[in-house]
Amino acid sequence: MRFQEDLTFYLNGKMASGTGTEALELLPALLARYRRLEALRHDYPLVLFRGEEGPEMRPLSALLDDALEKLPRDEEGDRLRYRARRMEQEIRKNSRDQVESLSTLWEQAQAEIAGSSSSREPGSLKEDLARLREMLPAVAQVIDCGPQAPSRALKHLWEGEQARKAARLGRRIDRLLMGLENLLRADEAASAAGLSANRLRESMGPGFASEFDFKSMSQLLTALPHTGLPESRRERIRQLIHTLKSQRFFPTALDSKEKSLYEFTFTSCAEALRAYYQRLPRMIALAKAILMAELEVEGTYREDVHDSLFRQMGISELEPLQEFPDYLIYLNVSQAPVGELFKLIEALSAGLSIKVLLQIDDLRYHLESGNGHPGGGIRSEQLARMALGLGDVFVLQAPASHLARVSEHVRRGLRYPGPALFCVYSGAQGRSEGFPPYLMAAAALESRAFPLWVYDPAAGPDWASRFSVEGNPRPEQDWPMHQLTYEDAEHQRRQEEIAFTPVDFLALDPRLSGHLSPVPPDRWHDRMVPVAVFLEEEAEDLPQRVPYLLMVDSQDRLHRVLVTRKLIQEAQRYREHWHALRELGGVCNSFVERAVAEERRAWEEELARQSAETPPEVESEQEAPVEAAVAEETVSEEAPSPTRSPDEPYIETERCSSCNECIQINDRMFRYNENKQAYIADLSAGTYEEIVRAAERCQLAIIHPGKPWNPDEPNLEELMKRAEPFL
Ligand code: SF4
Repeated sequence: MRFQEDLTFYLNGKMASGTGTEALELLPALLARYRRLEALRHDYPLVLFRGEEGPEMRPLSALLDDALEKLPRDEEGDRLRYRARRMEQEIRKNSRDQVESLSTLWEQAQAEIAGSSSSREPGSLKEDLARLREMLPAVAQVIDCGPQAPSRALKHLWEGEQARKAARLGRRIDRLLMGLENLLRADEAASAAGLSANRLRESMGPGFASEFDFKSMSQLLTALPHTGLPESRRERIRQLIHTLKSQRFFPTALDSKEKSLYEFTFTSCAEALRAYYQRLPRMIALAKAILMAELEVEGTYREDVHDSLFRQMGISELEPLQEFPDYLIYLNVSQAPVGELFKLIEALSAGLSIKVLLQIDDLRYHLESGNGHPGGGIRSEQLARMALGLGDVFVLQAPASHLARVSEHVRRGLRYPGPALFCVYSGAQGRSEGFPPYLMAAAALESRAFPLWVYDPAAGPDWASRFSVEGNPRPEQDWPMHQLTYEDAEHQRRQEEIAFTPVDFLALDPRLSGHLSPVPPDRWHDRMVPVAVFLEEEAEDLPQRVPYLLMVDSQDRLHRVLVTRKLIQEAQRYREHWHALRELGGVCNSFVERAVAEERRAWEEELARQSAETPPEVESEQEAPVEAAVAEETVSEEAPSPTRSPDEPYIETERCSSCNECIQINDRMFRYNENKQAYIADLSAGTYEEIVRAAERCQLAIIHPGKPWNPDEPNLEELMKRAEPFL
C-alpha cells in the first residue's frame, strides 16, 4: 500500500506547494555542512587588480595566504596571521552581494575589529593592519559571487588584453606617423618655399641673423635642381597621415585625451554586429594605411605594383586587424530575446573577433512550463554545444564559483584570434531564494548539471589537445561520491558513501518543491532506494522501487525525500550530456573501451589456446593463494568503514580533488596516494596551525584538523576556534 502511494507520487507528482521540503527548510544532505558558507574559506570574494604582467583575478584567501607565507614563524608572525584571518572573515562578510574597492572594505573591517578588540591584545592593531594592507594590491576591486561577478571578471581581463594590443598597435602607428611627417618635412625643406631667405633665417635662429646673407644663400640653393617628392606620393603620404591620425579604434600616445573612441562593449549581438559592419570599411582603410605607411617610411612603395595590390587586398591578408580591439558582448540567457540567441550563433559562425559572455542565472527554468523566460526554447548548454560544433570558436563553460580557477582559460580565449564564447552559470537565482550563488554554482558543477569544459581550437591539431573536461570531480564516474557522517535515531555516529546527482542540485529550487515529498521514518520501506541507485537501474515505465534523496532540515535531522519521475528524467538527461562531454574529453571513451575490450578478448583467447596445447601440471596447492586472495577481498569489502572521532585529524581522501593546496603548505605532513589524492602522511612533520590552515584552504572542506597533538604549540586556543567548522 505504501509502495503504491509512493509510486503514484513518483509517476504523477506533484504535491501541493508548501507541503514538501520548503516547510522543513530541507537541504540535500551533502550540502548541509555549507549552510554557514561565510565561516568557510572559499574562492570568493575575488580581488581584481593590475599585477606586474597585467590584470589579475585572485581569491582574497589566496592573496593573503601568499602574503602570510613570507612572514617568519615567530610570535609576531603568528599574531599577524591571526589578524589577517579576522580581516579576511570580516571582508568576506561585508562584501556579500557587493562590488567594492579593497581599501573601503579594508577600512570597514578594520573599524569593526578595532571596535571588538580588547586593549589587552598584544601589539598595535593599527600598525599590524597597516602592515598587512601593504602586502595587498594598493588599488583593487573586490567582488562577491553573484549576478555581477561574471561580467566584472571578464571585463577586467578583457580590458587588460585590449590595452596590451592597443599599446602595441599604438606604438606602431606613432612610429609611422613620425616617419611620414619627417618625409614631408624633408621634402618641404628642399622646396622653393623651404629655401626662402626668411625660412633659412628662421631655421638658423636669431644668434646667426647678422652672420649670413640669407637672400644670396636662398638664390644659390634654389638655383640647384630640386629633387622633391612627386606630387602623387606627397598626396598619398598626407592621406595616410590623415587616416592614421583620425582613427577611433584605440588610443595612441600622440593622441589628445579628448579624442572620442569607439565603444566595444555591447549588451546585444545585433547591435555589436551592426557596429562591426558599419566600422568595417574604416577598419580596412586603417589596416591598409598601416601597411602602406610602412612601405612609404622604408621608401619601398612602388605605385605601379602596390596601388593595385592594396586595392585588391582581402580582409584576411590585413595582418594589423589582429591587433584591433575585440567586441565584448554580454548576454544574459534569462533576459535576452530568442532572436538575440540566434544572432549570437550567426555572429560566432561569421568568424569575427568577438568575445561573448553568455551568462545563465537560472539553469532550471525549462522544467516548469509557462515560466515566461524569453529564451525558454533554447537550453543554455545547447548554445555552448552549437558553438562547439562550429569548430573554430573558442568555448569555455564554467560555473562562476570556479572563475578564479579558469582564469588562464579565459585569458587564452581572449587572446584567441577568432570568436570566443564564455558560457558561465552565475548561480544568481540562488540569491533570491536565500541560498548563496557561490554554492548554487558549485553544486551545479559537482552534480554534472553544469560541467566545466573548454574547447580551444588553437591548442593543437586534434581533439585530445583541444578539448578538456579537467576540473570536474571524478570525471570517470557518473556522479562524484562523498562520505556522509550523521547520527542515527539511536545517537550512533554513522558513515555512508552517497552520490551527489543533479537531483541534489534540482532539490535546491523552491519552484520544484512539488516534486519532492518527505517521508516520515515510520513510513520507510525496503522498496525505497537512493536516487543514484535508482538511476543505475534504468527505471522502467513501472518501476519496482521508488527513488529517494537524503536531505537535512535546519535542526540537522536527516530525511528521506521521494522524488518524481520528472526529476529523474532530468538527471538522466544530464548524465547523457556528461557522458558525451566525457568522451570528447577522452575520459571513458567508448571507442577506446571497445578497442581495449577486443584486445583483451583476443589475448584471453590466445591464452586459452596456449593452455589447451600445454599439458597441465598437477599442482593442487596453486589454487590456495587464489582462494586466500578472494577471501581477503571479501573481508576487506565487508569491513565497515571506520567511524572517526572529531578529535582525530584526518582527510576524506576519496573526495580529494588534488588541488595541491594542502601539499603546498607542508608536503611532508600531507602526501598524495597512488590516485593523487591527499592523506595525512606524518602529523609530527607539521604543526596544528598548518593543518588548520590547510583545512581553511581546502575548497572541499575535507580536511578535519581534530585536536592539537602538541600542547606546547602557541596560540592553541585561537587555532581550535578556527578549526571548529571543520571538525
Ligand atoms: S585535501 Fe588537499 S589536495 Fe585535496 S582538495 Fe583538499 S586541499 Fe586540495
